[in-house]
Amino acid sequence: MLMTKSTGNAYDVALENFDTAADAMGLDKDTREMIKYPERILMVTVPVRMDDGQIHRFEGYRVQHSQVRGPAKGGIRFHPQVTLDEVKALATWMTWKCAVVNIPFGGAKGGITCDPKHMSKGELERMTRRYTSAILPLIGPEQDIPAPDVYTNSQTMAWIMDTYSMTKGYPIPGVVTGKPISLGGSLGRNEATGRGVFYTIQCACEHLKIPLKGATVAVQGFGNAGSITAQLLHEAGAKVIAVSDSTGCIYNRNGLNIPELIHMKTLVGHVEGFPESEPLEPADLLALNCDILVPAALENTVHAENAATVRARIVAEAANGPLTPAADRILEAKGIFVIPDILCNAGGVTVSYFEWVQDEQHLFWEAQDIYDRLERVMKTAFRDVLKIHLDRNVSMRIAANILGIGRVAEAVQIRGIYP
Ligand code: NAD
Repeated sequence: MLMTKSTGNAYDVALENFDTAADAMGLDKDTREMIKYPERILMVTVPVRMDDGQIHRFEGYRVQHSQVRGPAKGGIRFHPQVTLDEVKALATWMTWKCAVVNIPFGGAKGGITCDPKHMSKGELERMTRRYTSAILPLIGPEQDIPAPDVYTNSQTMAWIMDTYSMTKGYPIPGVVTGKPISLGGSLGRNEATGRGVFYTIQCACEHLKIPLKGATVAVQGFGNAGSITAQLLHEAGAKVIAVSDSTGCIYNRNGLNIPELIHMKTLVGHVEGFPESEPLEPADLLALNCDILVPAALENTVHAENAATVRARIVAEAANGPLTPAADRILEAKGIFVIPDILCNAGGVTVSYFEWVQDEQHLFWEAQDIYDRLERVMKTAFRDVLKIHLDRNVSMRIAANILGIGRVAEAVQIRGIYP
């Protein structure tokens, strides 16, 4: 079992990142008080009849960090380590992320503390439906729109959409994004996060004058975000030399055949044992001599004790919060270029926004249209963040936070306080 070394509470990290950026931009105290903390927090009990006939009680959360710029938006995570603080951190990052890519949403996140890998499909469906009914007062297409996150997928979203619609009495596809296409999902949503990560890596390589063709890549976490990023990098001629998931890590210094690896992972559920690869200690993946490191698993995987071993030239945060602030400082001192999560993985929420717009208009776009719009949004956001990074001589993370927090601050100052 691969362990994630957590050297801190994700919410503390989110607050520290906020304060650092707010200090750098000279944000006044009143505005800080209004935008820093979650607007609403709901904790729910989710009783589920398990397949053995017994009732098991799960704990669930939905946190709305901000609705200043629009309805709250954010994924739902099913994982044994889900805590309220983790959900608060993820909701906070969603607010700044939506603002960085300039889409009219605030931030939210949800989660259930559970181990979906050891639950049947029936148990997952019953848990999802009961959780949906418990958070029903908060969600809706104009209020708060969930989406997939770790260990949830389009099937989970279909159950949420159905439960919500049955309660209201008519179909409401806009209540969630990341749905199956047959229920009003968007083309390109499934691969949107990885595609967005890929566009930002393209921009970073261009900025640093690193040719993407032949560049070496290591990817930690081979789920939705990590596998699609790996596939697009592979197609662009980069060599993905190492990949890990929660069960193990594989390595081939000549490059792994990513389409075949994705095929195998779909069939058997893990990457270990892939032909033409050798096993690697998961911790060693971070320390590989490569051009691009893509942490695409969970929070705090790069921390004070292992950051000094990182040798990549670019770290692209496909995951949310994979670097602790201490790791950030170490990588900065080493001159490593970090593409921060709220910029790097914003492709997912951007295409979620496109999905929501299509649902609201009942008019659906072609895949190429979505890719083109996504590329424009991601590359504009990268350019905006890079400009702040260069003009103000701050890290890319602080620059992204300055951009995101600045847009939310402007909106709240114009709206004022009710009543
Ligand atoms: P996923 O469930 O599809 O995949 C997670 C992957 O990480 C799995 O392959 C799992 O085996 C692996 N993993 C778990 N613990 C690990 C560990 N300690 N070391 C190595 N691998 C490990 O989830 P996802 O949707 O790809 O999400 C991954 C990250 O990307 C999360 O931080 C998530 O918040 C972020 N993210 C996802 C999206 C999206 O649209 N899916 C959008 C933005 C950000």
